Amino acid sequence: MERNDILLIHGTDYKEMAKKILERADVAAEIGDRNKSVALKPNLVAARTPASGATTHSELLAGAVEYLQEHGFGRITIMEGSWVGDYTLDAFRTAGYDKVCRKYNVPFVDLQKDSWKEYEAAGMKIKLCDQAMASDYMISMPVLKGHCQTIVTCALKNNKGIIPNVEKRRFHTMGLHKPIAHLNVVAPNDFILVDNICGDLDFEEGGNPVVMNRVLGFKDPVLCDAFMCDCMGYSVEEIPYITMAEELGVGSTDTAHANMIYLNQPEETAGKFRMSHRVERLAAYTAPEDACSACYGSLIYALDRLNDAGKLRGKLPKVCIGQGYKGRTGEIGVGRCTSCFAKSLKGCPPKAADMAEFLMENWR
Ligand code: SF4
Repeated sequence: MERNDILLIHGTDYKEMAKKILERADVAAEIGDRNKSVALKPNLVAARTPASGATTHSELLAGAVEYLQEHGFGRITIMEGSWVGDYTLDAFRTAGYDKVCRKYNVPFVDLQKDSWKEYEAAGMKIKLCDQAMASDYMISMPVLKGHCQTIVTCALKNNKGIIPNVEKRRFHTMGLHKPIAHLNVVAPNDFILVDNICGDLDFEEGGNPVVMNRVLGFKDPVLCDAFMCDCMGYSVEEIPYITMAEELGVGSTDTAHANMIYLNQPEETAGKFRMSHRVERLAAYTAPEDACSACYGSLIYALDRLNDAGKLRGKLPKVCIGQGYKGRTGEIGVGRCTSCFAKSLKGCPPKAADMAEFLMENWR
C-alpha cells in the first residue's frame, strides 16, 4: 500500500470490513516476521458505547485480531489510555473489549498505568508510554468524529491515548494543536484503520452519532485527517494541528492527489437507525429515499456546516438524496442518483465539503 492510498469499504459487517481493509493493505507482509509484537490502539476516550459515536467498535478490534492471528501473529496487544477523569478499564468494559480479549486470548494494557519516557519531538519534549513505544508495529484505530476543542479528531489526535495523564494535562494547557502535531513526529503510525461507522457530529464523548457505515485504511495520518475534513465539511486550514503536522514532515494533506481505492460500493442502509434530536433537526431538511449511509451521513455533516454558518433559516426545499430518485426529476438533490434534478451535485457519494459548498451556492 502506498502512502497516498485511501482504502474504503462500506457495509454493516464491521468485523469482515476490518479484515478486508487489512488484507487489501497487506499489513501482514508489511509487518513481516511473525514474532514481532503488534499493538492495536482503539479510541476509548471515555466509558461510552461505540453506538454513541465516541469509541471504536469492538467488531473492528475483533476483525483486526482475527486477521493477525490467521496470518500467524501471536504477540498481539490491545492498548489505550482514556482521557483524564475516566478509568480506562471502565471504558474497556463499556465498549465490550473484555469479550474480544477473552474470545481471542489477547491481553489489554491500560496505558494510564504504564511507565513512560521523554522523547525529542522536533524541538518539543514529549512523554510517551513505554509499552506503546516498545511495540514493533502499531495499528491505530481512531473514530472519525467531531471534537469540542479541536473541531475534529481522527488519526493524529488518537495518539494522545499513548501519552501519560500528566502529559495529557500539559497538552491542554498548550492548546492541544501544537503538541498533537509534535507528538506525531515520534508516535508510531504504522497503519490507520478508521472507524467511520457512526462517529459523533461534534463531540468526542458521543451523543449525536452520524451513521456512515464505513471503514477506512491509511498509511499517512495527515492524509487521513485531511480526508476527515472533507468527510465532515471542514477545510484543513480550520484544524491547525493537521497543517502543523504536515509542516513537521509527518505526512501530506494533499487529498486531491490521493488514490481512492473502493473495496465495494455504498449500500442503502440509511434510515435504519435511531437519530438523536440534534441529528433529527438537521435531517428535517432532507428527503431521503433509499439513501446509502455514507451519502446521507455526509449530508448531515454538510447541513451542520450550513447551520454553523447561519444558513438553515426560512423555508428551504428539502434536499433529495438516495437511490429512489434515480431517473426522476426534482428541484435540488445531492449525489449521482439525483442527476436528473434541476440542481444536482455529482458524486457517489459526494464529500460533505462539496455538499456544503453546493448547498451554500444553490439552495434557495
Ligand atoms: S449517490 Fe446514490 S448510490 Fe451513490 S452513495 Fe449516494 S445514494 Fe448511494
